Amino acid sequence: MCLFCKIVNQEIPSNIILEDDDFIAFHDINPKAPVHILAIPKIHVDSFNEASADLMGKMSSFIQKIAQEVNINESGYRVITNIGDNGGQEIKHLHFHVLGGAKLKWGHFSDADPKGHF
Ligand code: 5GP
Ligand code: ZN
Repeated sequence: MCLFCKIVNQEIPSNIILEDDDFIAFHDINPKAPVHILAIPKIHVDSFNEASADLMGKMSSFIQKIAQEVNINESGYRVITNIGDNGGQEIKHLHFHVLGGAKLKWGHFSDADPKGHF
């Protein structure tokens, strides 16, 4: 069973912010912003590549609720999902990073040369 499935099953403790029938949201163990929350489906889905339109619709509503719950919906925030090796996905259970609580920089996305793929 993967790490995030264990968090869903409460075999590994986490700091849960919001939960419904389909999803949970909890604080990232290694925050990269004043607010850094992970939102995951309770069912195991490897990544965004395998996420259905139905799941993504519900996920969007759930992430919007998280933003309201922690009061970053008006100040703004960023939602990121890493996919596969090049995307930097370490945990192979679909998760969305919800980052906020400060003005976020964009510069760390310039770590790869933007020229050259196409
Ligand atoms: P990825 O790199 O796969 O997009 O993101 C995985 C995230 O999970 C990282 O930001 C990492 O800090 C977080 N993480 C890894 N292990 C744990 C854990 O046991 N508990 C929590 N709350 N977060 C974790
Ligand atoms: Zn899993």
